[in-house]
Amino acid sequence: MPARERGDGSADQLAEYLRKRDARRTPEPMPGDQPPRAGSTRARFVIQQHHARRLHWDLRLERDGVLASWAVPRGVPLDPKRNHLAVRTEDHPMSYADFAGDIPAGEYGAGRMTIFDRGWYETEKWRDREVIVTLHGDRISGRYALIRTGRDGDARNWLLHRMDPPPPGWQPVPDTIRPMVAVTGDLPPPARDGDYCYEMRWRGNRALAYIVSGQLRLTDPRGSDITAVYAELRGMADQVAGTDCVLDGEIVTFDGNGRLKAATLRERAAVTDAARARRLADRAPVTYLAFDVLHFAGRSTMDLSYLDRRELLESLAVAGPHWQTPPYFPGSGAQALSTAQEQGLPGVVAKRAASPYTPGRRSEDWLAVSTRR
Ligand code: MN
Repeated sequence: MPARERGDGSADQLAEYLRKRDARRTPEPMPGDQPPRAGSTRARFVIQQHHARRLHWDLRLERDGVLASWAVPRGVPLDPKRNHLAVRTEDHPMSYADFAGDIPAGEYGAGRMTIFDRGWYETEKWRDREVIVTLHGDRISGRYALIRTGRDGDARNWLLHRMDPPPPGWQPVPDTIRPMVAVTGDLPPPARDGDYCYEMRWRGNRALAYIVSGQLRLTDPRGSDITAVYAELRGMADQVAGTDCVLDGEIVTFDGNGRLKAATLRERAAVTDAARARRLADRAPVTYLAFDVLHFAGRSTMDLSYLDRRELLESLAVAGPHWQTPPYFPGSGAQALSTAQEQGLPGVVAKRAASPYTPGRRSEDWLAVSTRR
């Protein structure tokens, strides 16, 4: 098959793109920046994760020398039962398919953009109101329909629907998981110390964080939704965005010296009115300490060992102004306990390194050990 040269779209095709941007102010590519690309005749697609004022994913399909584009606030669905809103945006130049970077504050689309996935696609249908394509990417493959829902003059609102079944083995994020509970006890005998990892105890409020399509849902151990109580934690979903997951952790409050402050936490937990909770979030913010991951990128991880789950958790790099991943210590329980004592923490939790996560169960695999014993 002969290689076809591809340009970067005509000024006519990209009029709206150019009108919205100033080449002196944004690092985004401008048509003509790159010479026409000789390559395969396969049409390209890209999905960019765009941390703009509101997080969204931009789906762009090569068509007639430009990238036809849709902004998808909840991302490209893997579940055929969940259609996602897709907002048609202006055509972008072909060179945009390789763009990742920071669009400066104040400019159109300000915020960080990363490449979530890319590949090639086949077109089955391309009409004014309906597009059917099969994507072949690294993360996302499958047959998708884009259906325009806006009436008459409104060409902006579309739905993105997966026509294929979910990818093999893919599991949706469950609605509710009950946390695993530690048994109160003593340190494991020294001979078995090496079978355990140690975490600090925080005496905070246990909470599971469901991060799906860039949105956070927080539940308490009984499964009640407490998302509105902790507005400052919403940004965690934005940070973790690219990977749907469920985290287990604790909500704590620290004073100015990094010491736990239980009274502030009690005050925060008691205020459930969303407006009052938002005001308190500014004055007395909480921190979410993520110590486990129960679902990761379309798979339950509860059958994995503690150590494997911790590795996945580290890969999420949960770290931000109000959320962290506290460390764990393999090996010496006595040493971990004295560290807890030095830091004024209530104790440690010994977690058996090979143990799975048993939801809703009190398990000897987790031993809560107090510094006072
Ligand atoms: Mn965008």
